[in-house]
Amino acid sequence: MVERLKSAIRDVNDFPKPGIVFKDITPILGDAALFRGAIDLLCETAGGKEIDKIVGIDARGFIFAAAVADRLSAGFVPVRKKGKLPWRCHEASYALEYGEATVEIHQDAVKPGEKVLLVDDLLATGGTAAAAVKLLDKVGADVIAVSFLIELSFLKGREKIPSHEVKSILHY
Ligand code: 5GP
Repeated sequence: MVERLKSAIRDVNDFPKPGIVFKDITPILGDAALFRGAIDLLCETAGGKEIDKIVGIDARGFIFAAAVADRLSAGFVPVRKKGKLPWRCHEASYALEYGEATVEIHQDAVKPGEKVLLVDDLLATGGTAAAAVKLLDKVGADVIAVSFLIELSFLKGREKIPSHEVKSILHY
């Protein structure tokens, strides 16, 4: 399955900006067997542990995290870009190449001590995931693992999440 997933991912040159090679995961989403296979493998990153909440990162992370939540009989919690969540939020900012981005979580989305699996489609520089982990630390979550379908290992993003277990299915 890992090889089938890898060969379905499409490299798109110069997206969203010149010089960037974007890993397009939509061919996986559009294929029932591949999508299910990806969700199976992400579920395995929970290591058989009972999980209370699957936290997904805006926006492709939502697709995978929601399916994993349903499969593991866990709740789903969105971490969103600033200004999208309607209620009281915690926020965390991280550096981009130019400027800064902020992500938010509802203050009551995860109760202290709840077991959480953080899920996103891809780990690149690690800024986004590290900010999401900061939010989970703020709410007192017990983060079982931080899981990605794809890890761009050469960018060393996992070094930004040293305090948590990082698990990826496909490595580049
Ligand atoms: P980071 O903060 O680790 O540099 O970037 C990871 C975030 O950006 C993830 O939320 C991911 O969805 C998005 N991202 C960055 N590059 C890519 C890419 O090549 N393909 C996909 N699918 N997402 C990307």
